[in-house]
Amino acid sequence: MPDTAAARTTRLLIDGELVAGNREPIRILDPADESVFAWSASASLEQLSDAVSAAERAFPAWRNTPVSRRRRTLREIAALLREHEEELAVLLTREQGKRLTESRGEIDRSAWWFDHMAEIDVPWDEVVEEDDERTVRVRRVPMGVVAALAPWNFPVTLAMWKVAPALLTGNTVVLKPSPYTPVATLRIAELVCGVLPAGVLNVVTGEHDLGAALTSDPRVARIVFTGSTATGSAVMRSAAATMASVTLELGGNDAAVVLPDVDIDVVAEKVFLACFTNNAQYCLASKRVYVHASIYDEFAEQFVRVAERVRVGSGLDPDVDLGPVANRDQYIRVRGLIEAATHRGLSFHLRGAIPEGQGFYIHPHVVDDPPEADPVVAEESFGPIVPLLRFHDDDEVIERVNASAYGLGGSVWGADQERAERVAQRIDSGIVWVNETQRLSPAFPLGGHRMSGLGSENGLDGVLQYTNVQVISIGRNT
Ligand code: NAD
Repeated sequence: MPDTAAARTTRLLIDGELVAGNREPIRILDPADESVFAWSASASLEQLSDAVSAAERAFPAWRNTPVSRRRRTLREIAALLREHEEELAVLLTREQGKRLTESRGEIDRSAWWFDHMAEIDVPWDEVVEEDDERTVRVRRVPMGVVAALAPWNFPVTLAMWKVAPALLTGNTVVLKPSPYTPVATLRIAELVCGVLPAGVLNVVTGEHDLGAALTSDPRVARIVFTGSTATGSAVMRSAAATMASVTLELGGNDAAVVLPDVDIDVVAEKVFLACFTNNAQYCLASKRVYVHASIYDEFAEQFVRVAERVRVGSGLDPDVDLGPVANRDQYIRVRGLIEAATHRGLSFHLRGAIPEGQGFYIHPHVVDDPPEADPVVAEESFGPIVPLLRFHDDDEVIERVNASAYGLGGSVWGADQERAERVAQRIDSGIVWVNETQRLSPAFPLGGHRMSGLGSENGLDGVLQYTNVQVISIGRNT
């Protein structure tokens, strides 16, 4: 495995200071060629505790900082992200593998989130009763220290979705990125520490044990977690002991439903992207594609034609459509899924190449109408293997779609918009797109149903989850 002499080293942000980690640094591989691209600072449990203490100390002053000033800080962070977009995008592609244009999009979207959150109209203080006897006000007050935990698939966006509303509402933050993808986030920490008072934002990276320690710390008032459903359950168990408020954004097994009246060429391409964007490592990726039986064969042919055109390679190469799988563990897991599917005797429309050599490359795999109970349908694969499934009528497909334990997203495709919308409304998940997919915005909430999560992020709903309700009832007859 080649080692890069110039590999960068990162530092933690604790109490306004950029400091080295007290544990052995973690080697971060570039998934495009397996070279050592960076050494990530690895915090000890004591350093994590120091970060929580710093956030606790910073809280009283930050909560009392005028909202106008907090809004200005959010805009300053947005400007810094835009100013350093190219540098951050390259770091993100090198640690995660995604295409450079996608990385630029991720940084740009994060800046958009900060700008939008800076404008959000929060009902900080509302009078709900007023008469001769009394005035009753409902106030929204910050909670305290927020623990924010991010996964490796969209490491920057999903971290910033948490930091922006937490800071707006007067909370302080300890952010813990995934150990696979800490580099761009730590660079952001370096950039923004100059515009934030010490301790308001702390960024601590290291091994997975930090996550468990952070989410069980009784000084943490709120936990906002994005990651797998299994880890989400562990987070919820930790929170049971401390009564921290919890928002969980977890796994998904989204269905795309393709009705018989679609323009097959156009929709096959769009659904392909819905499945394989970010190399299918996307909570909101279409992971099961239900196609009406009357167009199944033609749709499958077109879907495969699109898949065969796709160029797979380093995310830094502008001619590439799909980068490598994000890390070695994920690569081994997805290869295992593909091998197991082959051993179970599933039939494939397309078996993509898995080239030998450096880099975690897996070309798209498309499975032909496997049984509903097969793991490639029933479980979240989170890699470039997707099943196409035949259905015959709307009631049947809705029943199959809703049989999943997950309920994160989904999409319905059909020329008859009303029929497509009727189907969409019957899908039990937090977001369903009709004739488009994966469009998210800071203006509306995203939250999973059932095993896909608890609570929501974004929009006013998401922002309010960073506040406690306080009622002040003032009597006049004393
Ligand atoms: P993961 O659950 O392994 O890790 C997520 C984060 O939790 C990481 O920072 C990790 O270090 C930390 N962690 C690990 N063990 C912990 C513990 N015991 N307590 C607290 N924190 C702990 O998830 P991942 O593999 O990084 O991400 C992929 C998963 O995330 C997929 O299931 C995907 O669907 C899901 N995801 C969901 C959304 C959404 O919005 N619903 C978005 C992106 C990803």
